[in-house]
Amino acid sequence: MADAKLIDGKNIAAGLCARVAEGVGQLIRQGHAQPGLATVLVGDDPASQVYVRSKVRAAAQLGMANFDHRLPGTATEQELLGLIGRLNENTSVSAILLQLPLPGHIATARVLTAIDPAKDVDGFHPINVGRLGSIAPGAPLDFPVPCTPLGIMMLLAHSTGRLAGRHAVVIGRSNLVGRPVAQLLLRADCTVTIGHSRTQNLAELCRLAEILVVAVGKPEFVRGGWIKPGAAVIDVGINRLPSGDGRTRFVGDVAFAEALSVAGHLTPVPGGVGPMTVACLMHNTLQAARHAAGLPFAAPI
Ligand code: NAP
Repeated sequence: MADAKLIDGKNIAAGLCARVAEGVGQLIRQGHAQPGLATVLVGDDPASQVYVRSKVRAAAQLGMANFDHRLPGTATEQELLGLIGRLNENTSVSAILLQLPLPGHIATARVLTAIDPAKDVDGFHPINVGRLGSIAPGAPLDFPVPCTPLGIMMLLAHSTGRLAGRHAVVIGRSNLVGRPVAQLLLRADCTVTIGHSRTQNLAELCRLAEILVVAVGKPEFVRGGWIKPGAAVIDVGINRLPSGDGRTRFVGDVAFAEALSVAGHLTPVPGGVGPMTVACLMHNTLQAARHAAGLPFAAPI
């Protein structure tokens, strides 16, 4: 079988970012407020610092205002809730990104619930989670949807055509990726099965999948022999491994070289899902600003 077609997340994300930049310019030309993204980072986790920096940079490049807030790891929950309250009130802030994970002494669920659902750029507020959980097939996504799952759906829409009636298997049931992507696949009329750490015969289950989304967090966990020939495989994992020369390299949750000769479509790591996550964050920020301006909120899928 010929090698899988690679799904070029970098290119698709660049296209989305260009459309967001155009939307930002249009909003400002129409006399509305400039979209503004507030980023909130508690503590000094190096990976979180890198993620926040890339989001701040992307917002600036697309013409958005940025409000970057850093709190020490010793900050109290009350201090963080106070900041969230001020950002909710600030009309220059269209969207609030709370970088996770938070330090252990802060109740993440309580803080996420304090964010104004209309400014909840990650779609983690219980109201937005409930909206996605109860969405009708094909109904518009007129509320914030988690960025990585939204990006995954855009990659599938670009590469594999019609989704209705196809069997999608999602490995992973996190609130961040597995559950919301399963909801979005259901909305797209897929038949959806979710696998997790207690699932029996995972390899057999994967072999049934016409669409396989893997979000496990284990390097090269899904082997080539688990993949149905011609399936579309979305590898969400980002795992850092030593490359032998004292440096590190990133691999996904799917054994890439093996998958390449079996799958029909495949996302590379890096350059697949990762760029879409940041691009969808920018998209959600623009949509939040449009919503604040009384304009429709609409996801592009
Ligand atoms: P997570 O919260 O750790 O969830 C992992 C899921 O995998 C859980 O549902 C777990 O099952 C399941 N799992 C673990 N071991 C398993 C096994 N042996 N067999 C079957 N299922 C197993 O991780 P996450 O936040 O969803 O992220 C998953 C991966 O995606 C990570 O590598 C993360 O870095 C990456 N990620 C990438 C992006 C991006 O932008 N590219 C964004 C988010 C996440 P249980 O529920 O039973 O424990």
